[in-house]
Amino acid sequence: MFGKVKAHLQNELVKIENAGLYKKERVIVSPQDAVIKLDNGKEFLNFCANNYLGLSSDKRLTEAAKEALDTYGYGMSSVRFICGTTNLHKKLEESISGFFGTEDAILYAACFDANGGLFEPLLGEEDAIISDTLNHASIIDGVRLCKAKRYRYANADMGELEKCLQEAQNQRFRMVITDGVFSMDGNVAPVDKIVALCEKYDALLAIDESHSAGVVGKTGRGVTELYNVRGKADIITGTLGKAFGGAIGGFTTGHKEIIEMLRQRSRPYLFSNSLPPMVVSAGIKMFDIMSSTNVLQDKLHENTEYFSQKIRQAGFDIKPTSSAIVAIMLYDARLSQDFAAALLEEGIYVIGFYYPVVPEGQARIRIQLSAAHEKEHLDKAIGAFKKIGEKLGVI
Ligand SMILES: *Cc1c(COP(=O)(O)O)cnc(C)c1O
Repeated sequence: MFGKVKAHLQNELVKIENAGLYKKERVIVSPQDAVIKLDNGKEFLNFCANNYLGLSSDKRLTEAAKEALDTYGYGMSSVRFICGTTNLHKKLEESISGFFGTEDAILYAACFDANGGLFEPLLGEEDAIISDTLNHASIIDGVRLCKAKRYRYANADMGELEKCLQEAQNQRFRMVITDGVFSMDGNVAPVDKIVALCEKYDALLAIDESHSAGVVGKTGRGVTELYNVRGKADIITGTLGKAFGGAIGGFTTGHKEIIEMLRQRSRPYLFSNSLPPMVVSAGIKMFDIMSSTNVLQDKLHENTEYFSQKIRQAGFDIKPTSSAIVAIMLYDARLSQDFAAALLEEGIYVIGFYYPVVPEGQARIRIQLSAAHEKEHLDKAIGAFKKIGEKLGVI
């Protein structure tokens, strides 16, 4: 059989390559940080990691991980409800609900699993899920696994959301689900307006804070802090793989009855292994740091403000942002690839995105700022952007 499958796969892979969609992986031989070293021996300034708070190689976290490794060993060899729950797991769940001001939290192996296991235990065919069209793939997959009636509204379009809510009034329960920050534009969901609509039309609100937790809002509590509506989201999902240390792990937090039902019925929680103690321990340390000082959040906000201002002043066209994602618009696909390649030559590592990852004619370079970046890193990147921008006739 494999002969036929092989020919088919080879054919499909060539199609992917010809469409310019083949994903190649660059190999890093250093810790994840503002400066990374690749296997060609060269160092690059890194502007494309989700390492928003610079915690990925933070010594306090690696020390906490080592300590747990010595005390609790390497792995749990169990799901949570059989024999995979340590006091560390309970403590991290408390840290998460403490940070977000919620009643309880549940850990998953990843936010992909948190979203994959969110809808099916809570909603049935008599209910409705109303989802932003730009929501993350894991939300789309989670919605597919649930029998609730599906509604979709254009990205952040409050008119369309209201129409969906009106159409869904005959359903028993309604849940609106949105990313807090959309990763391609870096735009923030208009959560103040979404909260108002959910109240008007009697709907639950779930927010995926993966790109916004630790980043958005004065103290990094996410989009509900930014819009001054803390406590108004019924459910928050998020990842430990971005701002919160960058290792692995996801969570759902909110009302205690919701979390309890997820512990009973959420399939990725019930049927997948418990997080290793070292990751959990570093997570606890991370929330201790986040809750006791605002140094990292402040530095990230200053860096984002500085970088966007200088890039705008240089004449580049950027999407408005309240997140740590800056989309520098080049519109043309070829140009975005040439620009990224030229920046790499200058020692700046960024990614150019084009159709179908973003809409046609909306090609761009996406920059992700970090608290690990120092002024000199930012200035070097801004200088390189100006140089290449002039050379390629963008500015
Ligand atoms: C990254 C991301 C996820 C997936 O998180 P993992 O923990 O890496 O699985 C889910 N949702 C959104 C919005 C994300 O940006």
